Amino acid sequence: MKDSNCIFCKISGGEIPSKTIYEDNEFRVILDISPATRGHALIIPKEHYANLYEMPEEAAGRVMMLAKRMAGYLTERLHCEGLNIVQNNGEVAGQTVFHFHMHLIPRYTGDGNEDKLCWHHLELSAEELEEIFNKLKQ
Ligand code: 5GP
Ligand code: ZN
Repeated sequence: MKDSNCIFCKISGGEIPSKTIYEDNEFRVILDISPATRGHALIIPKEHYANLYEMPEEAAGRVMMLAKRMAGYLTERLHCEGLNIVQNNGEVAGQTVFHFHMHLIPRYTGDGNEDKLCWHHLELSAEELEEIFNKLKQ
């Protein structure tokens, strides 16, 4: 299914040109137009899913397999020293394009993002932690 108002439907379908570094029947991997680091790439499924919640498990599994392959490829070609995988779901989580995508962000010493791809740590009491655990344990 495609969404005619969705930029990533147009990019993944080839209607809008992109710097494509990999493509198969199901996915297109492109360079991010506003990269965090050199080689910042996006895995975009050709099918329109707004986010991870909407995506079938099997497709999500195939995204991760492709991420594994692309991580090796980017590292071999760019000689990055590490790589972050980021995948935002929902505005509150920083998602700005509402067609599922996975960020592959090569990391280099001194790339200027040392303080960006991390978070502040909460200080939870033992009771608060227990309460969360009780909601989540199966
Ligand atoms: P989000 O914040 O939704 O996780 O990430 C959206 C990403 O898509 C951003 O990093 C942004 O730079 C990238 N992006 C948005 N529009 C375009 C576009 O037209 N072409 C490319 N190549 N990247 C885009
Ligand atoms: Zn779309």
